Amino acid sequence: MRLPDTLRKISDFLQRLPGIGEKTANRLSLYLLRLPEEDLKEFAQNIAALKEKTQKCKICFSLSEEEICPICQDKDRDKGTILVVESPLDLLSFENGGIYKGVYHVLHGRIDPLNNIRPEDIYLKELIDRIKENEVKEVILATNPDMEGEATAMYIRDRIRELEKKVKITRLAYGLPIGASIEYADYMTLKKSIMGREEYK
Ligand SMILES: [Zn+2]
Repeated sequence: MRLPDTLRKISDFLQRLPGIGEKTANRLSLYLLRLPEEDLKEFAQNIAALKEKTQKCKICFSLSEEEICPICQDKDRDKGTILVVESPLDLLSFENGGIYKGVYHVLHGRIDPLNNIRPEDIYLKELIDRIKENEVKEVILATNPDMEGEATAMYIRDRIRELEKKVKITRLAYGLPIGASIEYADYMTLKKSIMGREEYK
């Protein structure tokens, strides 16, 4: 038996998502069919508007529905401290813990020569410009503790040093095991890593 057209199209789409094979996709499509119609309509509307509504903050490149994200707009956040993360999901981990009161910079990637990702492919120049043009007292490098994350942190450190501005550069103290990722780290681990951050030499 073949699935009816619309169901099949939905299943085909789901199969494009990471970690979802044909059987799971079929099962999920059938599950959708059992949900209330209003819920599905709302979901469809959100999907349709996703690209149009979501943009990158002009300052920190986090995802937002406004030009400037709520964190960058927040007067109570310390604009002089910038926590640099690889992805919006890493930012979420810190925000969910409520353990950080500064602002962020989201790189949307990391330098990874093996996969052809160069410094100019991520929001690195924007970070350096931001430090150049604003009064920044500390940059906390919170890229992941693996080879690419480390290489990215070193690269950023060297570019900041070239500015010859008085900016403190720190790196998270990793109670995080090597290779672990910030996205999946629990609240206590992140809290410790940020409290115990050390000057990055
Ligand atoms: Zn922002």
